Amino acid sequence: MLAARVLADTFRQVTVLERDVYPHDRPDFRPGVPQSRQLHVLLLRGQHVLEQLFPQLRSHLLELGALPHDYGTQSLYYYRARCHVSHRLDGWLCSRSLLEWQIRRELLASYPHIHFLEGNVVTHLLSEPHTPDVVTGVQFQTRNHKDDLSLQRLDADLVVDASGGSSRAPQWLQMLGNGYEAPQETVVDAQLGYATRFYASSTHAPYKFISIQSPGGRRSGSLLELEEGKLVVVLAGKHGDYPPQTNDGYLAFAKALPDQILYDRICELAPITPIYGYRRTANRWRHFEQLKTVPHNFLVMGDAFCMFNPVYGQGMTVAALEARALHACLKRRHGRSLSRRFHRINARIIRMPWLLATMVDQGMRSADASPIAHNHGSIMRRYMDRVTMCLSADAHVLLSFVKVVHMLQSPFALMSPSILFRVLFCHTAERRPSG
Ligand SMILES: Cc1cc2nc3c(=O)[nH]c(=O)nc-3n(C[C@H](O)[C@H](O)[C@H](O)COP(=O)(O)OP(=O)(O)OC[C@H]3O[C@@H](n4cnc5c(N)ncnc54)[C@H](O)[C@@H]3O)c2cc1C
Repeated sequence: MLAARVLADTFRQVTVLERDVYPHDRPDFRPGVPQSRQLHVLLLRGQHVLEQLFPQLRSHLLELGALPHDYGTQSLYYYRARCHVSHRLDGWLCSRSLLEWQIRRELLASYPHIHFLEGNVVTHLLSEPHTPDVVTGVQFQTRNHKDDLSLQRLDADLVVDASGGSSRAPQWLQMLGNGYEAPQETVVDAQLGYATRFYASSTHAPYKFISIQSPGGRRSGSLLELEEGKLVVVLAGKHGDYPPQTNDGYLAFAKALPDQILYDRICELAPITPIYGYRRTANRWRHFEQLKTVPHNFLVMGDAFCMFNPVYGQGMTVAALEARALHACLKRRHGRSLSRRFHRINARIIRMPWLLATMVDQGMRSADASPIAHNHGSIMRRYMDRVTMCLSADAHVLLSFVKVVHMLQSPFALMSPSILFRVLFCHTAERRPSG
């Protein structure tokens, strides 16, 4: 939908082909985005970009019950000890379903030339025999009519694949022929398992957002207040140490986190959903930017290009940044070099969040099982360990870290001379006497 928003400034007609039927009465789960049952936080950088693309979005979300939220003082972070951010970092909180619902409403209200063709699955890219290097549209099939051999076609001047982690863009390229190859993939898999549950609450606690990391980041737990008095809790464990999906097991996992605040809060709440597990969480980068040849008029973005370990909450923000980059590319009229240029710009956008996500994940392995943890990676990882040890002791380092996490500044800000000095010489929580 973000791609549709930016395409609408350049093209007379934009068609969104979506395999799901969108919820029409109220924000709700839909099967095409199975991960949307899991806790989703939109980082502050992502919020800022969305507010540029949709100037009314924030106020409309707040009218629908989204909560104004200060990610600084109203949030509790736990990294080896409780960390309190002393600066305001203003934004908002809402469920992913509400966010998607409202973005679609903004599109329908302000862009009459965007059309949604719901319940249609894209199956192939199309090109013409006399111009095999140009994508001229897509072939699609209406759902529940799988036996219907009359596939339909949609001609287009530009095709953008934003079909998420299950994208078949690599196969589509190969099926086009003309020597097109599937991109190489880099996969860094921390074998992370998520378990999310939604709750109802009638009381307000001091923190609308709680994030607890165990030392080494092997286990974590987060809580987020949402619209309509709902809360969402996610528990996560790496390397097969998955949070259970039974009541007792879930509570025991929460209780074993290094701070009890999340467990205590869950015990006060009434669950309103089952516990939803999710394990498809590897970082996966499909290197479309490295392809020697790409057909003209075909772009890939979002999770179809790169998926991140969700613990860092970067996916939607990266998708928003990519949409903004596409907007800029279209304005510059790159013509036949658009695909190549956009994919290279995408790769630049991805590089920093990828670095942040993968350097923390242990046991880094590429798709061909060769180690990709280069020396500089392990030095960075050790430095990041050192940073997290300082967070509770140094408010300056903590603020910088939270800004990096929210993608408001580059991870290299944590290596600026002033932060470096503080990190190397800080008295960490672990050095303090425990009594
Ligand atoms: C467990 C988990 C937790 C996460 N938490 C966060 C978080 O806290 N913060 C954050 O920013 N990100 C988070 N993410 C990442 C986030 O979900 C994705 O990065 C984001 O949704 C990517 O958007 P997208 O548009 O690329 O893909 P999606 O949101 O997956 O959308 C793809 C769309 O394409 C449709 N589609 C697929 N194939 C076809 C087809 N052939 N034809 C037609 N339509 C098709 C699907 O139905 C769907 O609507 C999380 C991910 C996971 C797995």
